[in-house]
Amino acid sequence: MTVRDNLAIIRENIEAACQRVGRNPADIRIVAVTKYVSVERAKEALEAGITDLGENRDDGLLQKYEALGSEPTWHFIGTLQSRKVKNIIDKVDYIHSLDRMSLAKEIEKRATKRMKCFVQVNVSGEATKHGLAKEEVIPFIEQLRDFSRIEVVGLMTMAPYTDDESVLRACFRQLKLLQENVQALHIPNAPCTELSMGMSNDYVIAVEEGATFIRLGTSLVGKEF
Ligand SMILES: *Cc1c(COP(=O)(O)O)cnc(C)c1O
Repeated sequence: MTVRDNLAIIRENIEAACQRVGRNPADIRIVAVTKYVSVERAKEALEAGITDLGENRDDGLLQKYEALGSEPTWHFIGTLQSRKVKNIIDKVDYIHSLDRMSLAKEIEKRATKRMKCFVQVNVSGEATKHGLAKEEVIPFIEQLRDFSRIEVVGLMTMAPYTDDESVLRACFRQLKLLQENVQALHIPNAPCTELSMGMSNDYVIAVEEGATFIRLGTSLVGKEF
């Protein structure tokens, strides 16, 4: 399948999901996750109309960035080691995986402009997943108040890998509730209006539950390696 064909199907699914819950499809941004595909395939995605690319490793991001330049909007979506921050900080537009104070400090130290960050939340509490526990999120964001180079644009989660729709829905709902609670605090550098949730197997449910950024790899660009 071409990226164009996949994207057409995904757009239809998003539209249908939006219609069911009364949302505007224009409010949902598709991030093409290119970690399993070549530069060529990433280029194909851009030609198909994709504007946002996501990578989960610094070397993958640098390789794609070198080939594709700063024109796409770049998202870092993976676990980020503090010592790797300096490699990617001036290349990415969004970091989806802010999950600890040491990382926040490193971003604050290295960023040359205000960095848009999602705070990653481990909603399901699975031991294998990264992210803050739900109850840690507000205290953490409060502690970031004086970080002039960090803007908490929203919250991000990875749902459990399951086909059980009720489990997925509950996960996304909890993230949305938490996002609304943070937004209501009106912290100047934490507008927290966005929700980065939904991947290839669960994005339709995520859109129904309020996602504003969905991160799509296999369903959009496929998997080459
Ligand atoms: C790989 C990855 C995705 C995309 O996964 P697919 O299931 O292939 O769509 C989304 N988010 C994160 C954090 C990832 O690491």
